[in-house]
Amino acid sequence: MEEVFNIENVKKTFYDKNSSLMVLDNLSLKGYKKEIIGIIGPSGSGKSTILNILSNLLKIDEGTVKVNGKVGYMFQRDHLLEWRNIYDNILFGLEIEKNLTTSNKSNAVSLLEKYGLKDFIHAYPKQLSGGMRQRISLIRTLSIKPDLLLLDEPFSALDYQTRINICDDVYKMIKDQNICSVLVTHDIGEAISMCDKVVILSNRPAKIKKIYDFTETFDDVKTPFERRTHPLFNRFFNEIWQELSDQK
Ligand code: ADP
Ligand code: MG
Repeated sequence: MEEVFNIENVKKTFYDKNSSLMVLDNLSLKGYKKEIIGIIGPSGSGKSTILNILSNLLKIDEGTVKVNGKVGYMFQRDHLLEWRNIYDNILFGLEIEKNLTTSNKSNAVSLLEKYGLKDFIHAYPKQLSGGMRQRISLIRTLSIKPDLLLLDEPFSALDYQTRINICDDVYKMIKDQNICSVLVTHDIGEAISMCDKVVILSNRPAKIKKIYDFTETFDDVKTPFERRTHPLFNRFFNEIWQELSDQK
């Protein structure tokens, strides 16, 4: 398996005038191509900080961070530009990169087509549902051809039913690519149904309490929705619930 990122013994403390806040204490984690890694942990434990470190938005105090390739970052809010149509929105990432080549443009459009959104190419964001907007936002992120995709609670602003549906859509979209994805979520069901591995973080300063590996468990299960009906789903749900409740 091809390694996409490797963070080792990372420490991170935030300082202000009068105080300091240690957020990560000796955290180590690796990710490989084709893998979806879930990170779940209490609010304020340092989940977004990990993504900000992986995307080089934050410097670390100690340890090493290696990322092989390009990073795409998708946030909770879709950050679509309301005054641009969908076509101009999905090209925005490439535009920032000054990488608007003919082949990159047609690749972006083919992603729209492949995931059933081509009919909306001339529409404006406000004409789309929340779930569609998030999928457009993902297409915009995938258009830059990242090797590492970071997703920070990407579905938490959506209603329950949309969230369940979009999990299947997004799962298919990211499994189709040859990338490593890191999904931060506080939704246990979402983590179990979408991820190959789920990392459970402790309270701040974040340490890894446990890593669940579902690769074999759900080997023959095709979609996140099907995982939710798998006989082992509830067992893992309860176990992770306990892990998160039992925070010391
Ligand atoms: P999570 O995503 O798990 O909810 P975060 O990684 O966003 O947690 O934040 C962890 C802690 O670090 C929080 O207490 C937050 O207030 C603090 N924090 C995050 N970013 C900064 C920053 N740039 N400066 C100071 N404190 C920060
Ligand atoms: Mg966060």
